[in-house]
Amino acid sequence: MHAIQTSGNCVRNITADHFAGIAPDEVIDPRPLAEILRQWSTFHPEFNYLPRKFKIAINGATADRTALLLHDIGLLALRSDDGEIGIRVSVGGGMGRTPMIGHVIREFLPWRQVLNYVEAILRVYNLHGRRDNLWKARIKILVKALGAQEFARQVEEEFEATKDSPSVITDEEFARVAAFFKPPRYAKLPEGDPELERNLADSRAFSRWVERNVHPHRQPGYAAVTLSLKKTGAPPGDATSGQMEFVADLADRYSFGELRVSHEQNLILADVRRSDLFRLWLEAKSGGLATPNVGLLTNIIACPGGDFCSLANAKSIPIAEAIQHRFDDLDYLHDIGELDLNISGCMNSCGHHHIGHIGILGVDKNGAEWYQVSIGGAQGDNASLGHVIGPSFAAAEMPDVVSRLVETYIDLRHPDERFVDTVHRLGIAPFKARVYREEAYAA
Ligand code: SF4
Repeated sequence: MHAIQTSGNCVRNITADHFAGIAPDEVIDPRPLAEILRQWSTFHPEFNYLPRKFKIAINGATADRTALLLHDIGLLALRSDDGEIGIRVSVGGGMGRTPMIGHVIREFLPWRQVLNYVEAILRVYNLHGRRDNLWKARIKILVKALGAQEFARQVEEEFEATKDSPSVITDEEFARVAAFFKPPRYAKLPEGDPELERNLADSRAFSRWVERNVHPHRQPGYAAVTLSLKKTGAPPGDATSGQMEFVADLADRYSFGELRVSHEQNLILADVRRSDLFRLWLEAKSGGLATPNVGLLTNIIACPGGDFCSLANAKSIPIAEAIQHRFDDLDYLHDIGELDLNISGCMNSCGHHHIGHIGILGVDKNGAEWYQVSIGGAQGDNASLGHVIGPSFAAAEMPDVVSRLVETYIDLRHPDERFVDTVHRLGIAPFKARVYREEAYAA
């Protein structure tokens, strides 16, 4: 990532999977294509004054860890039955005040033509996107206005005229960029480690951390590790300068000096020897970075909100903290299972509340801070937008509201059913009834 073109109405940083290059479910390593797109779009003279900012994500794995369908363009690598690599292209996703899920406009694009196709999309957007109204300027509004089919037709027409231009990626260019993403010098290791097995059997706390914060790796004997920045009492996603020094040292000693950041506001050590996991856990724990809550309710995504952001309607961080305190019992937390809770301090949605299984949005009512709650949002392959359950709540009510949502889920869930799947199966009605049963909340 870099700061060039930050805040401009142009192509922003390209994002990819935080497990890129190491995930066992990867079809391709998305990083070379992401970097080719970055180099191509940086200072691109034609696209430096688009109607509005523009965000592209690329995913090379079968599972989506990039919130692909919530981007202006989402690029998903696929392998065809005859082994060819291609790209499924979606367009028009986004959050903010008009949240939308992206539309797939091309099922299988030869990967070498990805720049040509993105160029065609940007041309159609540059030509027809609205410049008269800031709130209607993003590509999602144009895709909605034209209809995805008509938008795709115009893109295909433009692509037909330019698909053989010099933007087609050659083998030499791909090899030049891919050379920056060579795998580190992995040792030849056995997959199993008897000492690790012993530690897993002896320590419940360690095995819990491995269950939640350690992820599979394609290289035998290695794993990826999430260092949690979601300790109860600390602002979600924040790290002190001391912690950053500490983490840099962990990266040097355990993961070839490389550190990644996930969009869920945690840090990733991508290449850790499985035989080092127990030692790493002890050290991470001493630095407050080993909360075993990845994928669980307290792994809250929260924007800076009213404590720091001048655009905020309400604070986010104290709400996150109050909810984390309410669900601080690890047994209960693990029993609840997978649950994404996201908080934004205003409609700009930096905390991704639209795609939280539970989403919380700070709203202003007559100068006071209130919170609107939605449920049923999701990221990933089956991305969906949450539905607002009803009138908003005061800050002090929020832990109770979340408790009631969770209790409803526990009462109604099928075995092995996640919170969001129960919401999708039953709709919001039973949750709404439980939350609003006692108090008459202000409208
Ligand atoms: S969602 Fe709103 S309050 Fe939160 S960081 Fe973004 S602009 Fe600021």
